[in-house]
Amino acid sequence: MKVTILGNNSALPAFGRHPTAQAVTVYGDHLLLDCGEGTQIQMQRYGIKWRSVPHIFISHMHGDHYFGLPGLINSMSLLGRTTPLHVYAPPAMQAIMDIVQGVAESELCFPYYFHPLPEGSAATLVDNESYSVKCFPVEHRIPCHGFVIERKTRGRKLLPEKAREYEIPAAFYDRLKQGEDYTRKDGLLVKNEWVTEDGPSPKKYAYCADTLFTDSFLEHVKGADTIYHECTYLHADVAKADARFHSTARQAAEFAVMANAKQLLLGHYSSKYKDLEPFREEAAEVFANVHATVEGAAYEV
Ligand SMILES: [Zn+2]
Ligand SMILES: [Zn+2]
Repeated sequence: MKVTILGNNSALPAFGRHPTAQAVTVYGDHLLLDCGEGTQIQMQRYGIKWRSVPHIFISHMHGDHYFGLPGLINSMSLLGRTTPLHVYAPPAMQAIMDIVQGVAESELCFPYYFHPLPEGSAATLVDNESYSVKCFPVEHRIPCHGFVIERKTRGRKLLPEKAREYEIPAAFYDRLKQGEDYTRKDGLLVKNEWVTEDGPSPKKYAYCADTLFTDSFLEHVKGADTIYHECTYLHADVAKADARFHSTARQAAEFAVMANAKQLLLGHYSSKYKDLEPFREEAAEVFANVHATVEGAAYEV
């Protein structure tokens, strides 16, 4: 599972940085988390194919998190998308989409499903054989959700050359992937571990959106391998962060410690900061495995 940063700025584009958007890639699906202005251009730039995006999640209705969505959806339609698209967002997002489509008297050429996020509560949004996505409320100036994406294991990974070497019929391969041994006609027991290796392990990524520094949603993100936590400000501006329901780099790192995470991704930098290195340095004093994310970079979860 990997996270590609498409935008990591707050409020405005600045210093070549775009407003918030990320693509989380799980078994070939790209899941979009937020969709700030310019997201579709950033997707082209960094090789995120919109055909492989089945689900889009919008945390809240501040423009730096959704202004890119009407344009992206319209482009998908113009370019002939046929596969279904599911959008999960606050209810107001659908009202905006209805106006955009209505005034243009245009219809989307693919199946489009809107799922309103439940204000103030957690819910499971997606649960298939490859991954699940849940939302949970965070603490921001307006209703806002974070998202937890969990990659599921897919059993054992077959080593085809080894399986052929032991003359195992292809019809038995699915059972090998489930962990079974194979007994040949000549009586030889072929141990499963001789012809398979460990499959992808379960992983958990928690995206905490725009939020105050708080432990109110800790239960939802505990045990995550990687946490994304905003840091709109450096800690010298903690009063400003509190007043605006945002966080500082030091607070993001303190949160990662509380959540027992293995890795921390920072983002949502205020447009007043040109240099990102001070964010990384400030957080690293509290939590060592931290990245001040940069656009276009992909981080393994
Ligand atoms: Zn924001
Ligand atoms: Zn916000």
